[in-house]
Amino acid sequence: MAKLKITFAGGANTATGSNFILEVGDRRLMIDCGLYQGEKMVDEINRQDFSYDLSKIDALFVTHGHLDHVGRIPKLYNDGYIGPIYSTPPTRDIGELIMMDSLSILSKDSEREGTEPIYEEKDVLAAIHNWHTQKYHEVLPISTSEGVLKVRFLDAGHIMGSSMVEFEINGKKIVFTGDLGNTPSPLLKDTEEIKDVTYLVMESVYGDRNHEDQDFRIQKLKDIINKTIKRGGTLMIPAFSIERTQEILYYINDFVENGLIPKCPIYLDSPLGINATAVYKKYQSDYMNTEVNSIIKSGDDIFSFKGLTLTKDKKDSQAINDDHGAKIIIAGSGMSSGGRIIHHEMRYLSDPKATLLMVGYQAVGTLGRRLQDGDKTVVVHGQEVKVKCEVDMIGGFSAHKDSDHLLGFVESSAESIKKVFIVLGEPKSSMFLGQRIVENYGLDITLPELGETVELDI
Ligand SMILES: [Zn+2]
Repeated sequence: MAKLKITFAGGANTATGSNFILEVGDRRLMIDCGLYQGEKMVDEINRQDFSYDLSKIDALFVTHGHLDHVGRIPKLYNDGYIGPIYSTPPTRDIGELIMMDSLSILSKDSEREGTEPIYEEKDVLAAIHNWHTQKYHEVLPISTSEGVLKVRFLDAGHIMGSSMVEFEINGKKIVFTGDLGNTPSPLLKDTEEIKDVTYLVMESVYGDRNHEDQDFRIQKLKDIINKTIKRGGTLMIPAFSIERTQEILYYINDFVENGLIPKCPIYLDSPLGINATAVYKKYQSDYMNTEVNSIIKSGDDIFSFKGLTLTKDKKDSQAINDDHGAKIIIAGSGMSSGGRIIHHEMRYLSDPKATLLMVGYQAVGTLGRRLQDGDKTVVVHGQEVKVKCEVDMIGGFSAHKDSDHLLGFVESSAESIKKVFIVLGEPKSSMFLGQRIVENYGLDITLPELGETVELDI
C-alpha cells in the first residue's frame, strides 16, 4: 500500500485558480497552476507567494489551456521553479496563447495601478521552453520511493486537447478531472469513461444546474440572430476565445451555408479567438470528432464562410464602428471582464435594437454576471451605461458538464471509488453535486478547504 497526499492549493471552494499538489513518496507533482478570476481581490491572491517550496516540485501536469488552469505558470518560473511541464500538444499551443495574452492584460493592469507585474515575458518563455507534450494514453513513468507512478492524459472533451490526469501506482488510480466537457460536443470527441478509479478529484462548476440540450441551443442561437438582424440591430456575443468561439463559428457556418439566417456581416473581433481557431485547424484531424472530420474531408472549411471578417488588427476592429447596419460581433472576453467586447458593449448596451447574448459561465463580480443578473445600469471603463438592449443567455453552450452529466460521469467508477473530492466550483454548486453523488452512489465525498492537505492510502 502506498501513501500519498493531496494539497488543495487552489481551486477549492471556488471555480477558478486550479492548483493541486500530489505527493507520492518522495515525489511532488503539481496539477495545473491557474489564475483566480472574477472575484474581488483576485489580483491580491494572484500576486501572493506560492504556499509551498517550489524547489521541491518535480513536475507540473496541465489539464488544459484555459487561464484559470495555466495563468500562474509563468509566476512559477519567476519565483524559482525549474522543473518540466507536461500536457497534450494542443494544450501547449493554447497555453502559450493564453499566457502571452494574459501577460499583456496583466502588464496593462500593473501600469494603471502602479504595481509590479505578476510576471514578465521571460517567465512565459521559460515555461514554453520547459513544456513537453504527451498524447492521450501515452504513459509517462515516474519512479518514486513507493514504486513506479504511471501518468496518462485522458480526453476530457472540454476544449481542444483538454485532459484528465490519471496517476496509477500499484494498480490503483487517482484521477484529477480538470474541467469536464459538455459531451456531446459539436467539435470534440466525448469525455472518456474513467475505470477502476480509487480517488477522484472532480470539477463542479455546474454542479447545481442543468443545461438546455443541444438542439434547443442551436435553435435559440438561430432565433436570436434572426430577431436581431431583422430589426437592424447588432448582436454582441461575448465569447470565450477557446472552444466557444469555434463552436459559434461552426454553427453560423452551417446557418449561412444553408440560408437559415439573413445575410449580414459577421465579425470575429478577437486576436486570441483568431489565433485559437488556427490551433483548432492545426490539430483538427487528430482531436476533433469523426462527424466534423467527415465534413472537413468533404471540402468545407468549418470556420470560414461568406460575410465573416477576422479583425485581428486594432484599426480593423475600430472600423467596425463605421458599420451602422445589422451585424454580429463575436469578441472576448467571455465574461465581459476585458477585451474588445467592452468597446462594443459601451456602444450598444443602451441600444434597444441590439442584443447581448451570453454563452457561458459568468463568474461572480464580473460585468457579465451583473448583466446576466439583470442590472439596468452598469459601469464600463468608469462610465455609467444604461442597459436597454435585449439581454439573453444560452447555457447549453457551456463547455462544462451540467449537474446530471457530472453525476453520470462518476458512475463508471462508482464501484471502486473510495472518495470523491469536489473542487472547481462555487460552494453551493459543489455541495449540491456532492449530495447527489452520496444519494445516487452512496460514495464518500469531501469539499476540501483551500490549502488543506489530505493523506490517503492507495
Ligand atoms: Zn476550462
